[in-house]
Amino acid sequence: MWPKAAAVVAFRKLAELSRGAVELVLPPTCAGCGAQTDPTAVLCRVCDSRLERIAPGACQLCQQTSPQPDSRLCASCELSDSALTACFAAFRFEGGAADWIHRFKYPKKGLRGLDPAPASVVEAMLNEAGYRASGPPPGLVVPVPLHPRRLRLRGFNPAAELARSLAREFGIPFDPVALCRTRNTTSQTGLDRHERRRNVRDAFRARRGRQIPEQVWLVDDVVTTASTLTEAAIALRAAGARTVIGLCAARALSNVPSVGR
Ligand SMILES: [Zn+2]
Ligand SMILES: [Zn+2]
Repeated sequence: MWPKAAAVVAFRKLAELSRGAVELVLPPTCAGCGAQTDPTAVLCRVCDSRLERIAPGACQLCQQTSPQPDSRLCASCELSDSALTACFAAFRFEGGAADWIHRFKYPKKGLRGLDPAPASVVEAMLNEAGYRASGPPPGLVVPVPLHPRRLRLRGFNPAAELARSLAREFGIPFDPVALCRTRNTTSQTGLDRHERRRNVRDAFRARRGRQIPEQVWLVDDVVTTASTLTEAAIALRAAGARTVIGLCAARALSNVPSVGR
């Protein structure tokens, strides 16, 4: 290892050790306001109350209507034949949740990586979605990939950072490169549901030689119509997955049922 790299590793180790020491001495504090908080919580009750939770009993695919009697899905999602088995979020993408996610995805200039406070909050938001996913634990956690060109511009893939943390929380294997983007699609922002589906159609495939288990958790930071997640789920199914459960830190909900296909 060349000296500069060795110095960086040593510095990181030291930072980790000193952070551990600080945690031993100082009581845990809220990532939002700095108030003293429960050691198991990232946010205090006041800051947590600024995040709007999705009803845990909502349809397990669109997350915005009530399921049919004796079903986990609403009438519209039952007919949709989605490649996604389910898609869970614990929070609505608005207000406090949207602010945290924005801070996580766009760290202040000068920070040479993720901003630790928003990263810990958004990771906790995604973990909460993971705890809502019922059924046996999956064999793999996979993030929605960025196109290599977009990854170079951004410096990191927010979905991959979150998926890594989720995999650690649940003790599940993580593969950041199980899927790849075959096209550099334009942003989904501002497109309607049909345009979004067309924009990401056939945009993903499983990387050659990757073993995809039967059950997979597929992670993105924010889900709106689930078009991107659905296309990624189609690629995972083509590579052998039978159950693909989408998980995201927050879900943008409208009044229109959102999951197609
Ligand atoms: Zn607080
Ligand atoms: Zn539904």
